[in-house]
Amino acid sequence: MDIKSLYLDELTEYIRSLDLPAFRSKQLYEWMHVHLARSFDEMSNIPKTLKEKLSKECEYTSLKTELVQESKTDGTRKYLFELSDGNHIESVFMRYKHGNTVCVSSQVGCRMGCNFCASTLGGLVRSLKASEILDQIYSISVDTGERISNIVVMGMGEPLDNYDEVVRFIKLISDENGLNISRRNITVSTCGIVPGIIKLAKEDLKITLALSLHAVTDEKRKKLMPVANSYSISELMDACKSYFDMTGRRISFEYALAGGNNDSDEDAEGLCRLAKSVHAHVNLIPVNPVRERSYVRSGRERIDVFKNKLEKNGINVTIRRELGSDIDGACGQLRNRVKSEGAN
Ligand code: SAH
Repeated sequence: MDIKSLYLDELTEYIRSLDLPAFRSKQLYEWMHVHLARSFDEMSNIPKTLKEKLSKECEYTSLKTELVQESKTDGTRKYLFELSDGNHIESVFMRYKHGNTVCVSSQVGCRMGCNFCASTLGGLVRSLKASEILDQIYSISVDTGERISNIVVMGMGEPLDNYDEVVRFIKLISDENGLNISRRNITVSTCGIVPGIIKLAKEDLKITLALSLHAVTDEKRKKLMPVANSYSISELMDACKSYFDMTGRRISFEYALAGGNNDSDEDAEGLCRLAKSVHAHVNLIPVNPVRERSYVRSGRERIDVFKNKLEKNGINVTIRRELGSDIDGACGQLRNRVKSEGAN
């Protein structure tokens, strides 16, 4: 039994099945999701016999911090966590004006194969359980002692390829009996799995959906992202429209600018057209060069011209502030570096 992944009502049912009073379930839930206890041992008002029983029957997810790197320039902290099976994942803590943000991983590795991304280099190892996504935030919260108000599911992995556990995670982290993080401050980023987007729209969770677009024609997109072979841009835009219509939440497009690949005036015009058609915000990301890949970031001037073109067309556009670039800030880079150094 993975006790930290249980909803309060599921935990209550489990506690009942042990012939224990229901208030124990509320106590346990609070220890896990409010006081962020790292183990059963810390739960001072739970009887020792019950703690022993639970330790035998349940798995208590508590990530081991393997490495923390702090940026000297902006205070961004990058964490490498070890899971109970020895696998590693990355999470990032960032300070923004609008609050502290944590970027969490949803899988160990990734099978989507986007060819500019470091997370996908070794393929998918496995998906994370809800408790393992949750505990990235709990561990960081305990470590920094600071309030976390925003979450982006933009670390390693494709969240819609681990749909059930990601939705469970969102419900747990936004639960008023737990950390109660507002769903409006949660963003899930997808490479564009159409059935997953529609399913998520129907859940009506009031979270923000970010779509990693990166190209405006199917031909170009297929070169960057294998998932484009399964879903066309036109199908994607239909899914985005449904998401907006069903949830009332604006989509944001992520667009990594890779010099000479997707940063021409023509690309900017195409992006305007698509963003307008679904009322999307656009988030431009200067591509992070990954050692194993050949992409280079667009020059500052090109980025500005590209951005101005969008703004002139009335598109709401931001350039992602680059935090932590001195500490392997790009997805998957820290894990890969530690993995390859470990092998040497
Ligand atoms: N699988 C999800 C979420 C993880 S990646 C997705 O595809 O959206 C989070 C964002 O970082 C995505 O937009 C992804 O395309 C982008 N990204 C990955 N590698 C990058 C790199 N080297 N430079 C810039 N952005 C990158």
